[in-house]
Amino acid sequence: MQPESTPPNADITATPVPERAPTPAKLTEVSSLTLEGLTRFLTEELGERAFRAGQLYRWMHQRGATSFEEMTDLSKVLREKLKTRAEIVPLVKDAEQRSVDGTIKYRWKTRDGRYIESVYMPSEDRKTLCVSTQVGCAMACTFCMTGTLGLKRNLTSGEIVAQVHAVNREVRKLEKLETYRPLSNLVFMGMGEPLHNFENLKTALSILQSVEGPNFSHRHITVSTVGLVPMIERFGQETDVKLAISLNASTDEQRSKTMPVNRKWNIAALLDACRKFPLRQGRRITFEYVLLRDFNDSDEDAYRLIELLKDIPAKVNLIPYNENPGLGFKTTMDERAEHFRELLTNGHVAAFIRQNRGRDIAGACGQLANRGGENASESTQNPELP
Ligand code: SAH
Repeated sequence: MQPESTPPNADITATPVPERAPTPAKLTEVSSLTLEGLTRFLTEELGERAFRAGQLYRWMHQRGATSFEEMTDLSKVLREKLKTRAEIVPLVKDAEQRSVDGTIKYRWKTRDGRYIESVYMPSEDRKTLCVSTQVGCAMACTFCMTGTLGLKRNLTSGEIVAQVHAVNREVRKLEKLETYRPLSNLVFMGMGEPLHNFENLKTALSILQSVEGPNFSHRHITVSTVGLVPMIERFGQETDVKLAISLNASTDEQRSKTMPVNRKWNIAALLDACRKFPLRQGRRITFEYVLLRDFNDSDEDAYRLIELLKDIPAKVNLIPYNENPGLGFKTTMDERAEHFRELLTNGHVAAFIRQNRGRDIAGACGQLANRGGENASESTQNPELP
């Protein structure tokens, strides 16, 4: 039998018909790129001139554009090309809850059906956004709602930045403002451990601080960490924004009970990293201390805290605990919190009681786990520390 071959009269120069449609090339997430990365993508991958990158970047990060369609000063040809090669990763508003104090909690749905939250906190002199960096969190702090979820995935830098753009858009509409960037301050205290997603955090910061982008000042950005010691050093070397440490205890025994990270890097190791942290002139490290009734709020706790912080330029934020049913911790009474603050102040440690924002909507940072979404339905993951 003859092997199957080209039939006699067939035109062998004709392009063979592909068996199935070619799969589309993976789209590049351009909203996750720094201006430098975007320039490289446009010039090297798309053969465009470098200044086009600046135009695209400003559309995305100054004006918060979410589609190529609206970028009217880019040629139609380029916009079409971008549609086939690139994407701006969207965050779709899924729910919003408003507190009587003006705080608004936004829940976003990611493209893969996850939920993350950001909390908008307006006050007289600033408009602050609390930003998430991960879906869930691997740190498993026992008082924290997000800690009960385990880590689902890191957010991309585009998704971190998209929270800021989306809330700018919301606030602009809500408060009838002309300015593209109503937000003045950012705190990375939402879902997740920022230093556990360091590369994407760093890229997001570089976008958020860029002059061609939203141009946030380093003085108006604070990143809060559970205390990943080796990453604190890198954070100090590779960024210039402010550092906050979630201390939440005055002894290792206490801290290891509520914050598993302490079993790897104890208080001494953590404070040592803080002493070595390259602080800019006049800056202090913020220590967050969630007050848990009859757990870490005694006079002895205050005295130990004074001792621990005595040689560190520090400021303590005492945070009234937002109770989460089922986690077993109670809020310290207001008078006790005030007494605790006075003890610290008398011991020459600057201490403030953080205003409890959005209490009626469970809007506290660290309380941002959603119970209904897909995030909650899966098993938790073990902490994997760097
Ligand atoms: N992983 C980072 C940032 C997210 S948590 C960190 O640990 O710093 C941000 C802050 O919220 C932390 O100081 C945490 O201790 C605090 N927190 C967590 N759950 C809370 C709750 N239910 N009420 C008040 N503060 C809470």
